[in-house]
Amino acid sequence: MGKPGTSPRRRRVPQRTCVVCRTTADKRSLTRLVRTPDEGVQVDPTGKRSGRGAYLCDDPACWDRALASDVLAKALRTTLSEADRARLAAARPTPEE
Ligand SMILES: [Zn+2]
Repeated sequence: MGKPGTSPRRRRVPQRTCVVCRTTADKRSLTRLVRTPDEGVQVDPTGKRSGRGAYLCDDPACWDRALASDVLAKALRTTLSEADRARLAAARPTPEE
């Protein structure tokens, strides 16, 4: 469709981008994933763990795509192990209906 229109530049809430769909949203509606040195890729609900992070939005389709493709692995500059995938699958949001 057409252009989304003008985007007002507000700086009240830190904005993050979903690595799959590139949707920008405020920090709280995205889930941070962090690559840790010892424990692989972990879900980071507090957003405070140190390490290279990437964000996924709350759309389960994005989680599916993150698991099915290497987009997340690339964003984190790592490869996803079986344990990582299982962890992410468990953290995947369930659609509300
Ligand atoms: Zn997304």
